[in-house]
Amino acid sequence: MKYDYLIIGAGLAGATFTFMARRKGKKCLVIDKRPHTGGNIYCSSVENINVHKYGAHIFHTSDKEVWDFVNSLVEFNRYTNSPVANYNGRLYNLPFNMNTFYQMWGVKTPEEASAMIESQKQDILHKMRKDNINEPRNLEEQALALVGKDIYETLIKGYTEKQWGRECKDLPAFIIKRLPIRLVFDNNYFNDKYQGIPIGGYNKLIDKLLEGVEVKTGVDYFSDRGWWDSLAGKKVFTGKIDEYFGYRFGHLEYRTVRFEEELHECSNYQGNAVVNYTSRDVPYTRVIEHKHFEYFGNDVEKIPVTVISKEYSTEWRQGMEPYYPINDEKNGRLYSQYRELADMEPDTVFIGRLAEYRYYDMHHIIGKVLKADI
Ligand code: UDP
Repeated sequence: MKYDYLIIGAGLAGATFTFMARRKGKKCLVIDKRPHTGGNIYCSSVENINVHKYGAHIFHTSDKEVWDFVNSLVEFNRYTNSPVANYNGRLYNLPFNMNTFYQMWGVKTPEEASAMIESQKQDILHKMRKDNINEPRNLEEQALALVGKDIYETLIKGYTEKQWGRECKDLPAFIIKRLPIRLVFDNNYFNDKYQGIPIGGYNKLIDKLLEGVEVKTGVDYFSDRGWWDSLAGKKVFTGKIDEYFGYRFGHLEYRTVRFEEELHECSNYQGNAVVNYTSRDVPYTRVIEHKHFEYFGNDVEKIPVTVISKEYSTEWRQGMEPYYPINDEKNGRLYSQYRELADMEPDTVFIGRLAEYRYYDMHHIIGKVLKADI
């Protein structure tokens, strides 16, 4: 065997695994079917703006080991995610905080806000008591039980149904638990201790992780898997687990995102990196203005143009890039069948959003790899 590890997929999971394996003296070969490394964190440079080609990526974690690890490789800037929601032309701050409550109801103190939220929640809490349910059974119940009717209808329902292509009633509650709610004037989207974007973009991070390693891009593992397998004793697979097993139990479902990228002849298009369009009447879910990830304050003016991406969420079909696993009951059952097969392959590590069919963030992946037995 020429290599200790064949790593299939040069995204964050594969690249971090490779880095750790190499650190332990293992010889690695990394392959990826796309023409570039980095998977979905890959950026392209347009007029000195790093464009997040596969959607906005904002690094955040509370895990000091993970934060120290990434900072040992690249420097991070002070970017703090504070998206704005546009609902039929009206703007609201996210996540749900005192600014949002003021914009929604005119309430000015935490006491007024919490009384308002409590009254908004009464309907669903009453219904749940009547039905003898303790825990919300789906995303709609969860959202109503967390923030009540107005916020659910203005800022959650339309956005979520566009993003997932399903009714909120048919989605798992945990998706919405990602959104924090707080009674302070604080628009920082994440609760995490550490947050930022690598200075110079994510490609710098990936390049560091893969430094000194043999990487082949533009090659498809599935076109000749016997040959690729013959090269290494062990394998790390970061692609779709259902594809790995030849879809033998059927297809897992994914959501994918289509981006419409536009170059505008102005230095500042929307004044923020992320603006979510929460009404169903607008076909896209959000507009990303990439320069705001790395240029702050008046530095935004230094580049006279700007690049924006409109995000359209659609169901995944063969030939598209999968983005989000759909962790509902049906797909959960199917995944566990594939997981059983994966468990029977001790020499293959299945890791990442697609291989584990889990809605991981970047820091989860790195944390997992740092703890892996390599
Ligand atoms: N969400 C919402 N309104 C928003 C933003 C998010 O209802 O304006 C919900 C939606 O259901 C989404 C979930 O919160 O799937 C998680 O959103 P997040 O922005 O964390 O997701 P990601 O950035 O991973 O797409």
